[in-house]
Amino acid sequence: MAAPTPPGETCSFAEITAIPAIRERWEKVRRYFFLRESTYDMTNRCNIRCEGCYYFTGAKQFAGERPDESAWRSLMQAERERGITFAVLAGAEPSLVPQLCRICAEIIPCGAIATNGLKALPRDIDYRIHISVWGNDRTSSEIRKADNMLVRQMANYRDDPRAVFVYTFTPHNIDEAKEVTALLAANGQQITFNMFSAPVGYTGPLRHSPASLARTAAMMTELLHDHPRTVLFSAYNIVAHTHALGLHDLFSCPYPRRNPSTAIGLGRSFRQYRTDLRWDRAAACCVPDTDCRDCRHYAAGSAVVTARMFRHATDSETFAAWLDYVDTYLAVWMHGYTKGPNLCDHPVVPPASH
Ligand code: SF4
Ligand code: SF4
Repeated sequence: MAAPTPPGETCSFAEITAIPAIRERWEKVRRYFFLRESTYDMTNRCNIRCEGCYYFTGAKQFAGERPDESAWRSLMQAERERGITFAVLAGAEPSLVPQLCRICAEIIPCGAIATNGLKALPRDIDYRIHISVWGNDRTSSEIRKADNMLVRQMANYRDDPRAVFVYTFTPHNIDEAKEVTALLAANGQQITFNMFSAPVGYTGPLRHSPASLARTAAMMTELLHDHPRTVLFSAYNIVAHTHALGLHDLFSCPYPRRNPSTAIGLGRSFRQYRTDLRWDRAAACCVPDTDCRDCRHYAAGSAVVTARMFRHATDSETFAAWLDYVDTYLAVWMHGYTKGPNLCDHPVVPPASH
């Protein structure tokens, strides 16, 4: 990247965006600022049961299902009318109700589906598909009680440009990320990284420690370097998601659960619908029932870090790091968006609010 501002020296937004590489990336990402997300629990059933699953924590798992397609159609039409342009279909396992996923995609054309990948979603549902991976197949057998998971996931989504594998780092699967990433690279598939973020009240062994955060950062850095075409991530993603502070303490989470404002942004527009098609403002965020102090979830970061543009517009290096984060987020969430080379290849300290 050309002519970064020396660290510690601030400059104006016009000066920052006068740098050609930054201006080009800024013009590329700002075209997607129309995206307004909400999330939808599609079913309260899952075909496996993982340790530490945040869906099966708290009240949302007990919401009844609304399997009637007309109710879903009405909901999505109302969502589109109130300005929602991006649908995230999640909890528990959306692939068990493909007919409802299809209705969502027909009415809101941009979206993503979080799945365990054991049942393939029909190809005509044109959303980005996030396939969760929690380690190699030995670890998945232990923690997710499912055998040959990666083999089955890769077979279900072979040559499918909708698919991106999401590897959740726990303190116990850090080294395994190497073999999983190499396997996906050999199969021409893409991977991005997530951090286990403890559900409220969780005291089990998957919660990260300062030592496991540091080891995870080192592994992410190595994988990003070794597999730049396979790994959708950046140096600043690594900083933001392995910092000793969680995302809320670093950047102040804008989701309604943490943000009382109903005037602008996510505080105004975001809703998290449960399977009974109700939503609760007090619980609304993309990962409800996650402990905010421990929240380093990739879905949370996509909104929390991205929303803090002005905080990062202090100097060219910090803004380039933020642009890498946004470019990564769009590549992970928008089907058809291609990530560019990272502009900033080293860790940048997250700016404090000012
Ligand atoms: S696959 Fe997802 S929803 Fe199902 S138990 Fe595991 S984490 Fe929970
Ligand atoms: S769990 Fe994460 S995304 Fe949800 S409100 Fe807390 S900090 Fe925000």
